[in-house]
Amino acid sequence: MKLREDIDTFLNTIPHDVTLICASKYIAKDEVEKLLEHHIFNLGENRVESFLEKYYFYQHKNIVWHFIGHLQRNKAKEVIDKIDYLHSLDSIKLAQMIDKQRTSPLKCFIEVSINEEENKNGVYLNELSKFIEEVLKLKNIKLVGFMMMAKANSSDEELKKQFSKLRIVQTEMEKKFNISLPYLSMGMSNDYKIAIECGATHIRLGKIMFQN
Ligand SMILES: *Cc1c(COP(=O)(O)O)cnc(C)c1O
Repeated sequence: MKLREDIDTFLNTIPHDVTLICASKYIAKDEVEKLLEHHIFNLGENRVESFLEKYYFYQHKNIVWHFIGHLQRNKAKEVIDKIDYLHSLDSIKLAQMIDKQRTSPLKCFIEVSINEEENKNGVYLNELSKFIEEVLKLKNIKLVGFMMMAKANSSDEELKKQFSKLRIVQTEMEKKFNISLPYLSMGMSNDYKIAIECGATHIRLGKIMFQN
């Protein structure tokens, strides 16, 4: 895959106050150069190996690295000190590991299992308060907001419900802990327009940015 030809026109359709993160899993490391030429500096990787490959290759470029996939603890060590944002904080053990390893706070989104689907990642809603309470004790975690993935094949109506639910959760948690958790990372190629309507501050786009 390569960057779509009309990328600049496409980028102009994204509201300026929304941060577009390019999910770069579809492209090889050489193609990343094209993203930079078009001033796309927020990159999201979901696998440790491909992240490291691109990270080392472009180490001296001003890329903002987002890790957007599930981060297994046995591989986490390699990425924790190299990324700018983690979108998938979903366990206390991972949080504690990050806290130990980092020398400065890592900006983290808590991944929320908004549909409480089994075998999916993310913190369940009934465990969220306790989770935040624990994470707030860790000095090297900077909570910035929440991340979610919508259920596959949802109708527009169902998407709206799921995205709006995350926004309600955000408001509740900000009130409860008297802190600011301003970011909502939600919306992918198929649903980002609805996510933006529902308050997304960060969208993670893959497929739609590329062509064969
Ligand atoms: C691949 C990926 C995306 C982007 O998905 P597209 O449907 O290709 O836009 C977003 N978030 C995560 C976690 C991903 O792995």
